[in-house]
Amino acid sequence: MQVPFFRPSVGEAEIEAVTQCLRSGWLTTGRLTKDFEARFAETIGVKHAVAVNSCTAALHLALESLGLQRGELVVVPTMTFAATAEVVRYFDATPVFVDADPRTLCLDLQQLESTLSALRAERPVAGLKPPYGRVRAVIPMHYGGQMVDLDAVARIARAFDVAVVEDAAHTLPASYRTDETTPWISVGQRSDVACFSFYANKCITTGEGGMAVTDREDLAERMRIMSLHGMSKDAWKRFTNAGSWQYEIVAPGFKYNLTDIASALGLTQLNRAQELWRDRIRVARRYLDAFANEPNLLPPVELANRQHSWHLFQIQLQTERLNIDRAEFIQELKERGISASVHWMPLHMQPYYVKLFGYAPEEFPNANAAWQRLVSLPIFPGMTEAEQEHVIDTVSQLLKRHAR
Ligand SMILES: *Cc1c(COP(=O)(O)O)cnc(C)c1O
Repeated sequence: MQVPFFRPSVGEAEIEAVTQCLRSGWLTTGRLTKDFEARFAETIGVKHAVAVNSCTAALHLALESLGLQRGELVVVPTMTFAATAEVVRYFDATPVFVDADPRTLCLDLQQLESTLSALRAERPVAGLKPPYGRVRAVIPMHYGGQMVDLDAVARIARAFDVAVVEDAAHTLPASYRTDETTPWISVGQRSDVACFSFYANKCITTGEGGMAVTDREDLAERMRIMSLHGMSKDAWKRFTNAGSWQYEIVAPGFKYNLTDIASALGLTQLNRAQELWRDRIRVARRYLDAFANEPNLLPPVELANRQHSWHLFQIQLQTERLNIDRAEFIQELKERGISASVHWMPLHMQPYYVKLFGYAPEEFPNANAAWQRLVSLPIFPGMTEAEQEHVIDTVSQLLKRHAR
């Protein structure tokens, strides 16, 4: 049996919606994209949503709208995807890495605070030496779909006068609360800007796509302008009957707008977001039950007071109890038809950042330790019971066979 790492859940509704768009004669950004933005903002519970062609573009626009300048600093987790830090480098600004919380693999909030303190006091931090530029933002990323406590992040950010941009690529829907007595807070509601991904294997997909959401009118307007060549806001009317051939260029912007073809897919997927989420929960619960008493792996740690998106189901191999390493384990899964992945090699270990900052792997010990043990197992809506059984049986057998 072959089990892919991911299989997108695209049905007749999506095919019908895209076909209708194709027949409509309007393919690029238009009414469907405006609808998608409005519906997305409503779903998250924020005022503005700007549709773009990737989450990376959304992160880039978020930092641009906040006015990030060359030589300034942005705090980012080392345990994240390339995009979270590369967008800082687009400005010739400096990403300041923070280690992972070993339980959640999200950024460690104590280290976030101690790093901001060190930067303010002009004390050395890993990879950097004073004098420092101004610290402008922190980008928390919700690893695998489980949210960071954004109230805590916001408190720290306020104390140091830095903005918060969520990398929400893994989260839809997701929420958290402080305790049982406080209301649920959705992803996107406690940051200056939150950036979502609609890449093929994310919670909902448009093939490629992304969305930046914010309650701030000024940031929304700047992101909208910069997403389309820096054309003044009325340029968007070109896409409506009220449109005209006239526009003004107010800045050298980018070409990040989302097509109506993609938005047709996005609207349909957004309608199905709860259904897709429930199916991911089903798969996650079954894995958690199956591995509850497995001593040779650590399943994902679920915090109380979280609604987890379950974009990823990452296990950590207890490699000191095994006679194979993580790479060999993934190879053995592959030989049995199972595609697994790793999220991620920490960014401070990637050649580009090693060259730039001279990091040693141990400088962020939690990320370094986790990375050597991490395996992301297949999880996707529509995963069959037989497929999941094959994964569970194979993982259990391999762990037994290779136990020391
Ligand atoms: C997928 C991903 C992104 C980038 O999303 P794109 O839409 O492909 O640009 C950013 N951050 C994280 C954590 C991701 O997993």
